[in-house]
Amino acid sequence: MVQLLGNLFILSAPSGAGKSSLIKALLTKHADSVQRRNGDLQVSVSHTTRDPRPGEVDGEHYHFVDRAEFERLIEQGAFFEWAEVFGNYYGTSRVTIENTLSKGIDVFLDIDWQGARQVKQQLPDAIGIFILPPSLEVLKSRLDSRGQDSAEVIASRMQKAKDEMSHYDEFDYVLVNDDFSTTLAALESVVFAQRERLDNQKQRNNTLIAELLA
Ligand code: 5GP
Repeated sequence: MVQLLGNLFILSAPSGAGKSSLIKALLTKHADSVQRRNGDLQVSVSHTTRDPRPGEVDGEHYHFVDRAEFERLIEQGAFFEWAEVFGNYYGTSRVTIENTLSKGIDVFLDIDWQGARQVKQQLPDAIGIFILPPSLEVLKSRLDSRGQDSAEVIASRMQKAKDEMSHYDEFDYVLVNDDFSTTLAALESVVFAQRERLDNQKQRNNTLIAELLA
């Protein structure tokens, strides 16, 4: 594996916990702090075999491919991790992650627990963050309010959400998303604290530290 200068963050949550909104807000807010902190942050764009939802753009939200293409990529070892979620394949491109991390850019993976487990096995330094909803009622109402799915689909999503949540203790940080801005601040603090860790500082500020200690 190439030298990885950036931090790898894994963000997992059941559908309806508010994960996508948090990632979006984090990226928007980071536009300013990026230069100040001499860092950068990107969200990895996964491959998937599911159909695009209205408004989703190929290459931006996902790389949309068919099953044959996905299976070809699996055989080539192109995925850092991959899993079957809700009957579709999802995977993270190995080369894209390595290229981004080797430039010192922090990467966020929005993936499920199966993928998170594979990432931790390969890269134990990856930071796992799990988002929980504040209650089952709130989770259900968030799934309902999307208005896209039937009651049956929502019931099945609730069950899948419970399955996903049962893996919360495989993560390093657990955030309960009750109040959005508080959760966003907690997420940012995880990112900022990670950047100040000794190992990171020794790499990022090696010139400064050498000068200071000369
Ligand atoms: P959705 O179809 O709603 O966009 O995503 C469904 C689930 O698949 C979410 O839990 C999401 O985090 C997960 N997912 C998205 N991309 C990947 C990926 O590359 N790998 C894995 N393991 N899960 C993913």
